[in-house]
Amino acid sequence: MLSFQDITVHYGELVALGSLTLELKRGELMTLLGPSGCGKSTTLRVAGGFLLPSKGSVFLDGQEITNLPPELRPTATVFQSHALFPHMTAGQNVSYGLKVRGAPRRKCRREAEEVLERVGLSGYADKRVQELSGGQQQRVALARALILNPSVLLMDEPLSSLDARLRVRMRMEIRELQRSAGITVLYVTHDQEEALSISDRVSVMSKGRLFQTGSPEEVYFSPANDFIRDFIGNAFPVVLDGQRQLVRPDQVCPAPEGAFEGRLAGREFLGNTVEWRIEWKEQTLRAVMLSCDEALPAPGASVRFDIRL
Ligand code: ADP
Repeated sequence: MLSFQDITVHYGELVALGSLTLELKRGELMTLLGPSGCGKSTTLRVAGGFLLPSKGSVFLDGQEITNLPPELRPTATVFQSHALFPHMTAGQNVSYGLKVRGAPRRKCRREAEEVLERVGLSGYADKRVQELSGGQQQRVALARALILNPSVLLMDEPLSSLDARLRVRMRMEIRELQRSAGITVLYVTHDQEEALSISDRVSVMSKGRLFQTGSPEEVYFSPANDFIRDFIGNAFPVVLDGQRQLVRPDQVCPAPEGAFEGRLAGREFLGNTVEWRIEWKEQTLRAVMLSCDEALPAPGASVRFDIRL
């Protein structure tokens, strides 16, 4: 479907993308995940036609689109900042793309209302965008992209300006909309949880390189390297039987009959979960427990645990 072949992007001396090759399947939601500055937005800009790569090609359904300007591509982008026109109504914002393509006013109005309904904003066409909440503005931005019926929807950190609770709700809504309409989406985020929860496949990047592409379970349970184990699994180093290993907190399991014995050095309450710090052989391990399951040993108490690698 959408395919990046050996894409390299230079900004002056900086190599923002180094020989990136990646292929999206029709109807899937693929996420580019990596720390800030790793090249995710650059990849999206190349896909949308906003940036010409220094080297390499982009194909859509077998046709090369590398040099095609954004308005001639069957792609649409939802930006982090929404980029809505503040003086226009929600409906005018949504139908803008159709209007500049010469669609008659009636058709613009009808389609804007239809697509606003799809994103949960029926009856909002005449509201000014300034009167809308952050979440509603994000929905308008999504509707504005969907009205163009793109072959590929590009989403660049679309939820980062929303509060934590709304982010979780919106990511579920985006996922449902994408699934039910079978839209192909390339989604950018630096948030591991968001990537794991929303994607069919995740592509993990660092410093302009793609390290691993796989299902959320694959990249979490079988990371290709220590960077991914650390970045996605929140792993920490432990020396076990003389060997350095990276261990995730969910692999350290307190249990009365556990094979190891350490000392509870502290606990951090996180709401649903509690993280324990366990001192063991001059190392500090982290274990994660469900708050409702937690038995409460006193700080300093001895704790037994297993390490499930
Ligand atoms: P991400 O989206 O993963 O945060 P970007 O693709 O925005 O990363 O940026 C990748 C690298 O390219 C970063 O080091 C960033 O500072 C640099 N960069 C991005 N845009 C420009 C630009 N217009 N000019 C110069 N450097 C840039």
